Amino acid sequence: MPEHEPNNVVASTWLKPFEPPKRIPDAADVVIIGGGIVGVSSALFLAQKGISVVLCEKGHIAGEQSGRNWGWVRIQGRDTREIPMMQESLKIWETLSEDLGEDVGFTRGGCFFTARTEKQFDAFGDWVKIAGEHGIDTRLVPGGELGTHIRGAAIDWAGAMYTPSDGRAEPHKAAPAIARGAARAGASILTGCAVRGIETTAGTVSAVVTEHGTIRASIVLCAAGAWTSLFCRSMGVNVPQLRVRGTVARTAPAENAFDGNVFDDRLGIRRRQDGGYTVAHGSVLEHPVTPASFRYFFRFMPALMQELKIVRLSFGREFIEELRTPKSWALDTVSPFEETRVLNPQPNARVLRGIRRNLDTMFPALANTPIVESWAGMIEASPDVVPIIDTVSSCPGFHVATGFSGHGFGIGPGAGKAIAGMLTGDDPGIDLAAFRLSRFFDGTPIKPQSGI
Ligand SMILES: Cc1cc2nc3c(=O)[nH]c(=O)nc-3n(C[C@H](O)[C@H](O)[C@H](O)COP(=O)(O)OP(=O)(O)OC[C@H]3O[C@@H](n4cnc5c(N)ncnc54)[C@H](O)[C@@H]3O)c2cc1C
Repeated sequence: MPEHEPNNVVASTWLKPFEPPKRIPDAADVVIIGGGIVGVSSALFLAQKGISVVLCEKGHIAGEQSGRNWGWVRIQGRDTREIPMMQESLKIWETLSEDLGEDVGFTRGGCFFTARTEKQFDAFGDWVKIAGEHGIDTRLVPGGELGTHIRGAAIDWAGAMYTPSDGRAEPHKAAPAIARGAARAGASILTGCAVRGIETTAGTVSAVVTEHGTIRASIVLCAAGAWTSLFCRSMGVNVPQLRVRGTVARTAPAENAFDGNVFDDRLGIRRRQDGGYTVAHGSVLEHPVTPASFRYFFRFMPALMQELKIVRLSFGREFIEELRTPKSWALDTVSPFEETRVLNPQPNARVLRGIRRNLDTMFPALANTPIVESWAGMIEASPDVVPIIDTVSSCPGFHVATGFSGHGFGIGPGAGKAIAGMLTGDDPGIDLAAFRLSRFFDGTPIKPQSGI
């Protein structure tokens, strides 16, 4: 069994002193706002093309969603619009550690979505058909055979949908390693460096204003995760986005109950590289109600209706906090991005108790394994839970990549490669039309195909 990880191995991604940049470059071909998996992957592929790129991260690389997620790298069950990009992403993950010369913890242990009823099991047939059309190895496994794959479970599942080629990686390792790889390829990676806004000349992007100075650039990518909507709004660009909080935990290294990812409506669980398991409730996400909930209510109706059983509304200080957050600010004053260096929601104690209970009853083999760390992350979702990757027509030179919802970690490297193509005018390798921002405003029916 690998060496025991320290108790705050995940949280150490964001619980550390900020390192503001010693100097910032005067100019770059491209400036990227945000050091999550999308921003760093875009930086890597741009730098590998010989483009001069500066990435500005207000807090820490992977300090928000990209360091807090479950670590699932899966194609199974995705919205069909994401399939080509995810296929590319899986290819990148396969050799990423080798290409970077650093471990990102990727391995293909397979992914199971389990069904408790025959009706749920039958419903998986639709996606298995889609998988077949795309050459994906997803298949149905009847309940009687599941025990050979998912050892140590004490549930009488009706069956599962299974994709052996799906995998997982370690979120606390991946984006930081990609960022270091981008730096070795020539990118400037600046942390503790919030971008306050954009300067334009004759309506076109000409510079990025950070808290530490201005960087001239004619191409800017906003990959600011949960902050994208606020950032864009300050520029008069409407990007519909809502936040949901997910509580996560990890166990100490344990007996190998199974080696893969299993999603049940009561538990999401995957084997970790350190021999423990990352665990979460399968069907509890919390949406803190804020003014944005009302602003975007109708746009998010289809997604909320679909996730009615999963998304719980919470009423707390987030409403007042958002109300107090300025919607625009002078670029020579402190911006909301410096006020919250790291969006660090607290895990929900009740949800943690539910995770413990479900783990014990579903996997008796793990019942005595202690939970050694817990945390929460704020997922940002688009109305159809599919990313927005686009150039913003009202502001030439400005681009957005956001809305990756609860599945942006796995697809992040593939998105970064496509984005590098989009920004340089090269072939992105994937048709990005389905990810255009205007789909939310041009009458296109908004139909989420997958969950948040
Ligand atoms: C609990 C949870 C579980 C999840 N599970 C999975 C999973 O198993 N598999 C999967 O594929 N996906 C999963 N996801 C989703 C995945 O983590 C996200 O989709 C993905 O990480 C988004 O990456 P990003 O780079 O777009 O955003 P982020 O990782 O949020 O990065 C955005 C960055 O931008 C920075 N920033 C914002 N504004 C500014 C500014 N003005 N100046 C400078 N920097 C700024 C922020 O500080 C942040 O670091 C999960 C997410 C959560 C929270």
